[in-house]
Amino acid sequence: MTGCKVLIELLSKQAMTLRELAEWFHADTKELLLDLERVSQSVKPGKLIMDPSVCRNCGYVFKDREKRRRPSKCPECKGEKVSEPVFSVEL
Ligand SMILES: [Zn+2]
Repeated sequence: MTGCKVLIELLSKQAMTLRELAEWFHADTKELLLDLERVSQSVKPGKLIMDPSVCRNCGYVFKDREKRRRPSKCPECKGEKVSEPVFSVEL
């Protein structure tokens, strides 16, 4: 478990993708997703910001996506070059 405070502190200084966070904390991405949920609850009145995934092929933005994982395919062009969402915290 990664501790929300550490995550909040880190993400308020720099934006990171899930994979970068997993490497940073030597943690599982699954675990980090849970931690991010907790962060979004506990950071109030600040907020957890997620820059959505974007298709590198056609520029489609996955705005409505609830899940925080990287989508595997673009619904528009069926391309698989989809960027990872980037997380940051605004305090
Ligand atoms: Zn696309």
